[in-house]
Amino acid sequence: MTQWVYSFGGRSAEGEAGMKNLLGGKGANLAEMSSLGLPVPPGFTITTEVCNYYYDNAESYPADLREQAAAAVSRIGEITGKGFGDTENPLLVSVRSGARASMPGMMDTVLNLGLNDETVEALAKNSGDRRFAYDSYRRFIQMYSDVVLGVEHHNFEEILELYKEERSLTLDTDLGADDWEHIVAAFKVRVEEELGSSFPLDVNEQLWGAIGAVFGSWMNQRAITYRRLHEIPATWGTAVNVQAMVFGNMGEDSATGVAFTRNPSTGEKALYGEFLINAQGEDVVAGIRTPQDLTEAAREAAGSDKASLERAMPETFSEFVGICDQLENHYRDMQDLEFTVEQGKLWMLQTRSGKRTTKAALKIAVDMAAEGLITQDEAVLRIDAGALDQLLHPMIDPDAPRTIIANGLPASPGAAQGEIVFNSDDAERLKAEGRAVILVRVETSPEDIHGMHAAEGILTTRGGMTSHAAVVARGMGKPCVSGAGMLRINYAKGEMLAAGRIFKEGDIITVDGSTGQVLEGRVNMLQPELSGDFGQIMEWADSRRVLGVRANAETPLDARAAREFGAEGIGLSRTEHMFFDGDRITSVRQMILADDEAGRRKALDKLLPMQREDFIELFEIMAGLPVTIRLLDPPLHEFLPHDAEEIAEVAEGLGADVDKVTARVELLKELNPMLGHRGCRLGISYPEIYEMQAQAIFEAAAEAAKKTGQPVTPEVMIPLIATKAEFDLLKERIDAVADKVRADKGVEIEYQTGTMIELPRACLRAGEIAESAEFFSFGTNDLTQTAFGISRDDAASFLGTYVEKGLLEADPFISIDTGGVGELVSIGCERGRAVRPDIKLGICGEHGGDPASVRFCHEVGLTYVSCSPYRVPIARLAAAQAAIAGDAGSTD
Ligand code: ADP
Ligand code: MG
Ligand code: MG
Repeated sequence: MTQWVYSFGGRSAEGEAGMKNLLGGKGANLAEMSSLGLPVPPGFTITTEVCNYYYDNAESYPADLREQAAAAVSRIGEITGKGFGDTENPLLVSVRSGARASMPGMMDTVLNLGLNDETVEALAKNSGDRRFAYDSYRRFIQMYSDVVLGVEHHNFEEILELYKEERSLTLDTDLGADDWEHIVAAFKVRVEEELGSSFPLDVNEQLWGAIGAVFGSWMNQRAITYRRLHEIPATWGTAVNVQAMVFGNMGEDSATGVAFTRNPSTGEKALYGEFLINAQGEDVVAGIRTPQDLTEAAREAAGSDKASLERAMPETFSEFVGICDQLENHYRDMQDLEFTVEQGKLWMLQTRSGKRTTKAALKIAVDMAAEGLITQDEAVLRIDAGALDQLLHPMIDPDAPRTIIANGLPASPGAAQGEIVFNSDDAERLKAEGRAVILVRVETSPEDIHGMHAAEGILTTRGGMTSHAAVVARGMGKPCVSGAGMLRINYAKGEMLAAGRIFKEGDIITVDGSTGQVLEGRVNMLQPELSGDFGQIMEWADSRRVLGVRANAETPLDARAAREFGAEGIGLSRTEHMFFDGDRITSVRQMILADDEAGRRKALDKLLPMQREDFIELFEIMAGLPVTIRLLDPPLHEFLPHDAEEIAEVAEGLGADVDKVTARVELLKELNPMLGHRGCRLGISYPEIYEMQAQAIFEAAAEAAKKTGQPVTPEVMIPLIATKAEFDLLKERIDAVADKVRADKGVEIEYQTGTMIELPRACLRAGEIAESAEFFSFGTNDLTQTAFGISRDDAASFLGTYVEKGLLEADPFISIDTGGVGELVSIGCERGRAVRPDIKLGICGEHGGDPASVRFCHEVGLTYVSCSPYRVPIARLAAAQAAIAGDAGSTD
């Protein structure tokens, strides 16, 4: 026989905290508290298996459920000395939903179930308080009708308001027993009008109605939406808890409240919460009356004149504090509690691990480790690595007043403020004058890189979370709001229409890339706090992680941020960004469009000193650490001139005919640039480009080493290799350049040459490639594109549907597809290592900062991950968590 029902109460229970899957979170913890001997009103939990049965069997129940439930109801009666439906001494219960994970969107709790015209009289008699009895009854009818029968709340509000108005009463507390009795009758009439049938007075009908409503609510739209957003499978089901009522509305010595054992927003170790005297649970949540503080300290801090629980009920308070300590020690975590005081007697109604801000999570974990409640490893595991993002950027003071003028997508976290500029050149010019600007564009393109660098934040009206603006901004760690479609930009007039108002160039706005809000003017900001509890957790994490963490960085600003966030080197420096800067793009265009090698070399000679300067600065900042530099990678078309004016400029520089240059631009256009003339294919067509870059790297390394005394080891990385032959050809050229620099400068140059592994073929032939390549860096962005045959830039229109329909678990461009792309990475690692056991293996790309992907990288034994500077702490923490989890797994 299957046990569908688990009883609790009377200092014992059939369930326990570990049975959350079967009993739901609420039921499992009520059972646990009972077994701990805490005062919990007795009750029982109908399991989540019944919910699954219900949906698998045309919304019916297992045959023996009713019998088991009836026995459990009798057991409550025995413990309380009352009977369900008994007209002398009636038992009242609450019916509460409770899934594995706490889930708003489920059925609201029904209190005082079991009341009818007869039992209410018994309740009045036994309590000696008619007003209380009828107040409870009207609450029950109101809640039950709303939640179970679907008669909306406003029906009852109207009746109540009208009644008070007619008698010139203002507060609910002004109403006496007769008033409530009158209202109960009116409520029942309204229910009958609305439903065409009368309010159920049979207590078993009430009970099963409420139980059915809980199961039914599992499939309501709110719950379905919530599950989708939080990736909760429908197969988890919900449990139902039926529990004897205790009454916080029995007078001035009764109360109800909620508490956190520590402050959930700051993490401070101090009881935090609120309560109401003479009230039932829903009153606290409903916010009809202003709740009172639990502790004297909190009351004083708030300057409230309403008594604290500590003052109003000192004995109950000290019992409650004792229980809080006991539960925190027992669960070894901060608890979120519900309690009720019935005529001086304390009852516990719920406990669970409390939700908290990331800041509080850090403090609580560090404090609990210091208190010896948890280990350092546990403290590290308690922090949600992804959520650290909230803390690493400047953010808007949550208490600051704000005027929202538009909403877009939270494309890159953090907040920034400055003057509006509508183009990248203006952004750069104003930045040079020391002014802070927000770059506002319909959308951005690779040519806006300099403007994005100059801007404090970026705002676009078009494009999603993977638009150019979003991806590049995240890479730079700059706040970005993308796709703010309600904004209208008029470039010609230099203005923007927002919330019915015109904003001009130079007007101040604030963008919040964490929420997607665009705000008028300046708003007070808070700077990230990287020491303290954050620093402590990071220190513990670093002592545990095996995986190295590097940053993707090419500008001095990024490189400094990378070091500040604890990067152990640069894993990807993209040289093409350096090609867009200032006037360089003209030289780059001349190089590409030159007819012959001589023409190209002439243009490259202009670029060499600039590129060398870039690297010197980078190497100085990264003194003593490894720096991976990727040779030119993007499709040529990104560098081509767009309009007649730009073509004329290039032609003039080349001393060439405009028509000839125009024709060459046409010739270089590609149908599918991402699979076209890019990566090492450029180096093979135009070896001078890579030679120039190699020369700049080696000369810069020598120069920077002289200055700092701490040489970096440049790792020269060739992109998009498919065959060993490609690699060998290019490596030979690079080695020749190194020899020449050695000879010219008379210095020793240490470097390595390796490759991005970003094509499936390269993964498969990794053994061969490793014969020549000294390191691999898995370029998982391109590897995902090429493994799936999906272009990332075009994925927006269909990938969302895939994730929604469950065809893909997650967006493979955000979290690595371990089954497919991951397997290619594993094969690449294995075959590479077989040939070159000490080969350095890393990944770069958006995945390097995604906790789930970092775990995968740990598991396949990569040497390091590389991610944007702002995600370095996230990767450090995720790497430690993977190591700790791995150790725990291996000792099983
Ligand atoms: P939620 O999950 O929305 O918090 P709960 O089931 O915990 O819903 O209940 C809502 C309110 O009703 C809480 O304040 C709770 O303390 C109160 N409550 C639930 N069961 C009882 C009971 N048996 N006696 C008194 N109050 C109760
Ligand atoms: Mg609750
Ligand atoms: Mg790539």
